Amino acid sequence: MSSLDMEKLVSLCKRRGFIFPSSEIYGGIGGFWDYGPLGVELKRNIKDAWWHDMIRTRDDMVGLDCSIIMNPRVWEASGHVGGFSDPLVDCKKTKERYRADQLWVFVYRFNAKDAPGSMVEFWWGSLGGGPDEARPAAEARAGKVAKKLGAPVDSSVVGYMQVAPEDREKVIGPSVEESGTLTEPRSFNLMFKTYVGALESDSNVAYLRPETAQGIFANFKNVCDTGRVKLPFGIAQVGKSFRNEINPRNFTFRSREFEQMEIEFFCKPEEAKEWYAYWRKTRFDWYVSLGLQSDKLRLRDHDPDELAFYSTATADIEYAFPFGVSELEGIAHRGDYDLTQHMKFSGKDLTYFDEDSKSRFTPHVIEPSAGADRATLAFLCEAYTEDKVENDTRTVLKFHPRLAPIKTAVFPLVKRDGMPEKAASIHHQLREKFASFYDEKGAVGRRYRRQDEAGTPYCITVDGQTLTDDTVTIRDRDSLRQWRVPSANIDVMIGDMISGKLQAPQGEISGGSES
Ligand code: ATP
Repeated sequence: MSSLDMEKLVSLCKRRGFIFPSSEIYGGIGGFWDYGPLGVELKRNIKDAWWHDMIRTRDDMVGLDCSIIMNPRVWEASGHVGGFSDPLVDCKKTKERYRADQLWVFVYRFNAKDAPGSMVEFWWGSLGGGPDEARPAAEARAGKVAKKLGAPVDSSVVGYMQVAPEDREKVIGPSVEESGTLTEPRSFNLMFKTYVGALESDSNVAYLRPETAQGIFANFKNVCDTGRVKLPFGIAQVGKSFRNEINPRNFTFRSREFEQMEIEFFCKPEEAKEWYAYWRKTRFDWYVSLGLQSDKLRLRDHDPDELAFYSTATADIEYAFPFGVSELEGIAHRGDYDLTQHMKFSGKDLTYFDEDSKSRFTPHVIEPSAGADRATLAFLCEAYTEDKVENDTRTVLKFHPRLAPIKTAVFPLVKRDGMPEKAASIHHQLREKFASFYDEKGAVGRRYRRQDEAGTPYCITVDGQTLTDDTVTIRDRDSLRQWRVPSANIDVMIGDMISGKLQAPQGEISGGSES
């Protein structure tokens, strides 16, 4: 929902135990987050759904789990040691640090013929293509700063320009009103460095992986040698990656430690275009199938000038977050770049022998590369809903049942007459199959609301009638419908509803109310 502001979501995440700032009792640490009891289930369900849908239920995919620290030569081959850097700019006055390519600044110019100090033009601009969503605010601020600096009314041309190197000393940074406080952009490598072994010397330097993909390429030969795979096939990995982002922001969206879900799909060069189109669609449809509305979800093809030099096509799956439209996943046609690089640097043969055509070649690669934390954030944003119910506003997280952290909550209507015992036994039966929760505290209406905030799709209530005919009510989170079912085999029924095999009954509501 567009009206969702991030503050509300962040506060719900904290209050209900989805996401906490890391090491919060010590003041936290920028760019690191912890997943609480509900968050860990949600994120695990997303990773499990990905693994199930992309790997386990396909015959052309296998998985891997590589170490986070690898031989540093891997990162030389991949280009990360030389090129994985962002341009960093410091403000000498405020001590703030920015990514030059994500920054709008202000520049003024003097007319050479005029007396020094007479400003004739005032521009706002970027040091390298600032973010679109921040453009209107930058433009508005440019006008104000121009006036303050005494730009003559008729010459205060406020426009956009790419800042040229000779204008750099006239640049006015984002939170100051004078020029010359920003340093020259300098290249900052995003990889976290560490030392392996007891010596802290250059020869012992290693890196925390900035992506999981390279572990897959480094193991390409191992996987081929196991004999289980034949082109076309994919290798997938889920795991932690680390990037020392200059400016972590937007909650978990840009973190310094995060999880990726990556596929490298290897195929014959002549089939790569088709497979690219296939994965572009398959990955988009996956998000839709788990509840991301198509109009918030977008597929954006990169312009030719945005492409990495080795890529012939790349598309981003983007989501309209409250803070702007941003990337969830990238799907790239990488050609044979990665395997070729690793052949060069390792000296090992990573070509593939095709039994059918009796030929040997370097496979091409399609890479769908997703972030588990960004997906979790998108599913949280999408699920967040405020509904009017019986003159009250309820906050409800409408997760797809497959993703919901808790699938069922079981309540005894009251704490007597054997209802708690019956409810507990149903809960024990259910928790063998999926995450279930037992709650006997307080009014049943309040218990429903608590589960709404956790996103639990089904609440099961044991009441007086249960004790006579062994039926219970199921209450559906989104429609608030309640209906009675026999308690025997309820685990099978709920399982079928989660998988979509069985629909919740439509029409009449039987049994209890919301309070
Ligand atoms: P961005 O331009 O946003 O920095 P990227 O294009 O560098 O992202 P990739 O290198 O393509 O990202 O990484 C693939 C996926 O990994 C991204 O689509 C995203 O989901 C996830 N990812 C990358 N960096 C981060 C981060 N700092 N925090 C959380 N997830 C990330």
